[in-house]
Amino acid sequence: MKKIAIIGGGASGLMAALTAARAGSDVTMYEHNSGVGKKILASGNGRCNIINTTVSYEDYAGADPQFVTYALKQLGFSYFEKFCHSIGLLLDIKEDGRCYPLSNEAKSVLIAFKSAVSDAGVRICTETIVSAISKKDTQFIVETDNNKMLYDKVLIATGSEAAPQLGATADGYIFAKRFGHEILPTYPSLVQLHLVSKNHHKMAGVKTTAEVTLIIDGKSKEKIQGDILFAAYGISGLAILDISQKASYALHTKQRVSIALNLLPRYDRATLTNMIEKLFSSVPKHDVHTALCGLIPAKIATYLLEDAAISLSSTVSSLSPKEIKKLTHLIGEWKFEVSDTHGFKHAEVSGGGVSTAHINNKTMESTLIEGLYFAGEVLDIVGRRGGYNFNFAWASGMIAGKEMAKK
Ligand SMILES: Cc1cc2nc3c(=O)[nH]c(=O)nc-3n(C[C@H](O)[C@H](O)[C@H](O)COP(=O)(O)OP(=O)(O)OC[C@H]3O[C@@H](n4cnc5c(N)ncnc54)[C@H](O)[C@@H]3O)c2cc1C
Repeated sequence: MKKIAIIGGGASGLMAALTAARAGSDVTMYEHNSGVGKKILASGNGRCNIINTTVSYEDYAGADPQFVTYALKQLGFSYFEKFCHSIGLLLDIKEDGRCYPLSNEAKSVLIAFKSAVSDAGVRICTETIVSAISKKDTQFIVETDNNKMLYDKVLIATGSEAAPQLGATADGYIFAKRFGHEILPTYPSLVQLHLVSKNHHKMAGVKTTAEVTLIIDGKSKEKIQGDILFAAYGISGLAILDISQKASYALHTKQRVSIALNLLPRYDRATLTNMIEKLFSSVPKHDVHTALCGLIPAKIATYLLEDAAISLSSTVSSLSPKEIKKLTHLIGEWKFEVSDTHGFKHAEVSGGGVSTAHINNKTMESTLIEGLYFAGEVLDIVGRRGGYNFNFAWASGMIAGKEMAKK
């Protein structure tokens, strides 16, 4: 019977352990937290967006996003749904393709996995940090604080550095590097952004819907509509998380990053101009701040006027056509420079990681070291928001588990 060590008890490790143990292997899982699956519990605001019904390599970033294609095909949605039934987990499929446990509680996912891996006979060593992995002849030596154990195969499923408060480490990169694997620089993703402006912190707590345009080195790269929320450090909200991978990568590669907010995206510029002119002509005696509050949140109106260099107390009728044009322009395209991300502590995931160039995407085995496997976020693959990160973790974990048990 093959002796397999799985380093990391997260999504990919649990799936690999279960798959390998069900196929008859002797599986030991090492997890340095007090329990497995901490990120599963924290995911999707405690609801766990477990997968998406539609997925392709275009939902991922990395040096070679197409690396994911084979794994995603092996674990198509209906296969995954059947698998979930096999561990006693029912899914709630939303109209946009996002799936959650029917209980609406991430805990259900973890309970189902824990009971399935225990039934399959996986040995789980929690509060056990793996400090080194080496290979002598055909055997791997896995070192923990007080032990050295021998295995035929090892899976590195240690995840990324994102959310260190949940136990995330960079250990997987260190292990991989020692075996000669290339590590592509890591950067936070699905993360809030820091802004450089004199006013964003004064709008902290203000939430609205906007279209966010990501601008890199002066060129518009992506447009996303959704919630934005000003904060003391800068800006957050779903639309910001959605542009954050490209923004973070650009910052990381020393490109200039800014965002433009369209506060009323449902109107084109001509309609917006028309609306503002009509609004202003119906309340000519109002001060401009009061008038703008009919269109956009009051606090935003205050600082938008400041950026337009228009006094809040100016009466609407006293505004020049140039000032009205400036206001219309800012409502449709209010620019902020982005200086940084809010960091790994606040990021859901990480870009970069173990280069996929030396991993066989049909087996998840290293092409440099026989018997060494990788799965999940430790690899240079990062998904969009919407269940895609778990999607790849389950898919790559399943392939690794199957292959490790096979040979
Ligand atoms: C707050 C939050 C919300 C999220 N929500 C979603 C969501 O709704 N949908 C989605 O698709 N994705 C979501 N994600 C991302 C998703 O959780 C990860 O992509 C996924 O967990 C990656 O799985 P993994 O197995 O690769 O790594 P992880 O789940 O991070 O597991 C790695 C494990 O390895 C352990 N470990 C690390 N080093 C060692 C060591 N040396 N020895 C022993 N153990 C070690 C860690 O403690 C950890 O338990 C969210 C992430 C966060 C932080």
